[in-house]
Amino acid sequence: MRFRTLDQARDLSGRRALVRVDFNVPMAEGRVSDDTRLRAALPTIRWLTERGAKVALLAHFDRPKGKRVDSMSLKPVVAPLSALLGRPVAWSDDCVGPEAEATVNGLEPGGVALLENLRFHAGEEANDEGFARQLAALGDLYVDDAFSAAHRAHASTEAVAHLLPAYAGLSMQRELEALDAALGSPKRPVIGIVGGSKVSTKLDLLKNLVTKLDKLAIGGGMANTFLYAQGHDVGASYCETELAETARDIIRLAGRNNCKLFLPLDIVVAEKMAPGAPARVRGLGEVDEHERILDAGPETVARLKRAMDNSATLIWNGPLGVFEMPPFDAATVEAARHAAALAKAGRLIAVAGGGDTVAALHHAGVAGDFTFVSTAGGAFLEWMEGKALPGVDALKG
Ligand code: ADP
Ligand code: MG
Repeated sequence: MRFRTLDQARDLSGRRALVRVDFNVPMAEGRVSDDTRLRAALPTIRWLTERGAKVALLAHFDRPKGKRVDSMSLKPVVAPLSALLGRPVAWSDDCVGPEAEATVNGLEPGGVALLENLRFHAGEEANDEGFARQLAALGDLYVDDAFSAAHRAHASTEAVAHLLPAYAGLSMQRELEALDAALGSPKRPVIGIVGGSKVSTKLDLLKNLVTKLDKLAIGGGMANTFLYAQGHDVGASYCETELAETARDIIRLAGRNNCKLFLPLDIVVAEKMAPGAPARVRGLGEVDEHERILDAGPETVARLKRAMDNSATLIWNGPLGVFEMPPFDAATVEAARHAAALAKAGRLIAVAGGGDTVAALHHAGVAGDFTFVSTAGGAFLEWMEGKALPGVDALKG
C-alpha cells in the first residue's frame, strides 16, 4: 500500500498545515470526558510544530447536519488540547471564511489553531468542491490523521486532499501500516477470528476474509447461524435462520479459496442470557430447546489457541461470546490472553478492531499487548470488508 507520508513534506517552516483529526470525543456536561483521541493527534501536531509549521486543526463533532448547533461546538476541546500540548491553542468560531483565515494566518510559526466543527457546513458531508476550496485556502499542505473518518468521502477527507499536497499523519500512517501487515501483505499463515452477534452485519467481511486468510475461526452469535446451517439444533439461541443458505455459500467460498474454517466444536449454554446464569458445556447437537448458546466451549478455544500458535498473523473482529456477562466472557478472555502473550513474545502479529472487540480486549486486560488495536470503528470494518476508503485513496500516489 502506497501513500504519501509526512517525512516527504519539505520546508515546513512558516507554512500552514491543514490537519484533519478525529476529535469526535466523548463529552459530558460540556467537558471532554475521554481524551484518547486528543492524545492520538499529538505526535503529528508536534512533528509539524517542531518544524515551524502553523497547524490548523480540522475536525467534526457529532451530527449537526449542516447547520450551527451550539451544543455541538468543538470549543470545549481547546482547553484540554492546549494542556496536553503545553502551549496555547487558538480558536476560530468558523472553519472557513474570514475569521478562520485571520486565525490561521495570524499564527506564529509553530502555533496551533482549532477550527469550529466542519459539519456546521452542509458542504462537508456533501464533499462539496466549493467548500473544499474554502478549506484549502487556509493551508499550504494537507495532512490527514483521522483514519476513523477515512471511509467517508467528505470535503475535509477527500475533496480537499486533491487541492493541496496531501500526506498521511503519523497516527494514520501507523494504522495503515498495521492494517497492511494484517491483511494487505501479511506474514503467513494468517488466521482471522470473526465473532459478534450477527452474520447479517458481517456478510461482506466474511466473504472478503475467506478469500484472503489461510484460516478463519467463527464465533459469537453468528456461529449459531453456521451451526444451524450445518443441521445442528441451536435451541433457543440467537440465530438468523433465514441466512442458512448464505452461511453455506460462505463455507463453500472458503473451500474454493483454501481457507480453513473453524466452527465451534463445543459450546457453552445457559437458559437465560444474564450475568452469572448457570452455564453448561455441551457438544454440538446436545442443546435443549430452552437453552441458548452464549460462548464457545473449552475444546473450541484449545483448538483456536493451537491454530494461533501455528500462525504468523492474527486479525480479529468480534467477541467469541457474550463477554459483557461473565461467565460467558471466558472464551474471549482466554483467546485474547493467548494472542497477547504470543504477540508480546514476538511470535504473532496480532491486530484487532471493532467497538465491542476493543472493549473485550480491555476487559481481558491485554489490549496493550496486541501489536495494534484499531479504534476506528466503521472505517476498520469497511477496510476488513475490502472496500476502498476514499480518505486513504486520496493520499495515494
Ligand atoms: P464489534 O463491535 O467488535 O464489531 P459486534 O458488535 O459484531 O462486535 O458484536 C459484539 C456483540 O456480540 C456483543 O454485544 C456480544 O454480547 C454479542 N455476542 C457474542 N456472542 C453472542 C452469542 N452467542 N449470542 C448473542 N450475542 C452474542
Ligand atoms: Mg459492536
